[in-house]
Amino acid sequence: MLIYDLSYEQLVSWVKEQGEKQYRARQIWHFLYQMKVATFEEMHNLPQTLVDALNETYKLNALEFVLKSVSNDGTIKQLYSVYDGHLIEAVLMKHHYGNSICVTTQVGCNIGCSFCASGQLQKKRDLTAGEIIAQIIETERQLEEKIQYIVVMGIGEPFDNYKNLTTFLKTVNDPKGLSIGARHITVSTSGIVPKIKAFAELGIQVNLAVSLHAPNDDIRTSLMKINKTYNVDRVLEAVREYLKITKRRVTFEYIMIQELNDSVEVAKELAEKIKGMNAYVNLIPYNEVIEAPYKRSDRARMEAFYDVLKKYKIQVTLRKEQGHDINAACGQLRSQHAQKEML
Ligand code: SAH
Ligand code: SF4
Repeated sequence: MLIYDLSYEQLVSWVKEQGEKQYRARQIWHFLYQMKVATFEEMHNLPQTLVDALNETYKLNALEFVLKSVSNDGTIKQLYSVYDGHLIEAVLMKHHYGNSICVTTQVGCNIGCSFCASGQLQKKRDLTAGEIIAQIIETERQLEEKIQYIVVMGIGEPFDNYKNLTTFLKTVNDPKGLSIGARHITVSTSGIVPKIKAFAELGIQVNLAVSLHAPNDDIRTSLMKINKTYNVDRVLEAVREYLKITKRRVTFEYIMIQELNDSVEVAKELAEKIKGMNAYVNLIPYNEVIEAPYKRSDRARMEAFYDVLKKYKIQVTLRKEQGHDINAACGQLRSQHAQKEML
């Protein structure tokens, strides 16, 4: 088992089982998340017996580096292999306000969105909490960068790996852990309604983003088959409840696909559906992938769509895409690498 898989409470129990005092757990936690050591031997103020027990019981190396891909805008995509050989990726994005990392939560994804490279792969397995945490620690180590922001928007549906997601969030947010502020963390979901409600009750002030992509069931079902289970109205109802409980703001992600969900009429329909909500719409230029037939909207269509939302006084941004030249859309580097391997 990976040591990063343990919650702080679990580490305390283990330390006590070893006949050690509780403060040893705090020391180990400090070495793991503040010092970010690569071996247990570096935990120099622990008794040798405890270092030996750690070595016998836990692993520290979760990820093996495979490939790095750097974009013209400085975005860096890291491809890693996990212990059973599956490939996962983490993307480091540089902004004027700091560095953010996009982490992967599952090998593949079962939600199967028709526009998404990852959606074409059946889920092989969930990543453990430690494998998600290790993406941050390993990427910081490899790139000699500090990471201040986390977006849980890589391959996978985080709410389909809910328990590991929440363990991950607690460890990275813990001031004794990686100490990344909850407001610096965003989790994106395709709209798993019961989990949106559970997330509201979780009590961590993490940002929530919901992939809406369409204001009506016809369009949304054509893009996201999950819409047959949790349709637009149910997702919006869950978001309203989330807003009521948390008093926070939600982001709706909306990828712009040419002639599919990007007309002025659709923009009006979207505005009518969400007006009055404490929500923010993030318009994302679609990243074309070989796995799907869709085209990115023309700039003019995106701007017209944006203008309609503005007119309705909806908070909206038209995101400039990052890492387009390295295929930073989720799943692409991994799938291209896999294709090369097959040739
Ligand atoms: N499964 C979660 C989080 C991972 S996907 C979710 O769907 O929300 C993160 C975001 O990337 C989602 O909004 C998704 O719709 C978007 N996305 C996926 N493929 C994309 C592509 N080719 N171009 C642009 N955005 C894409
Ligand atoms: Fe899964 Fe998100 Fe891709 Fe849909 S967009 S297939 S939910 S990773």
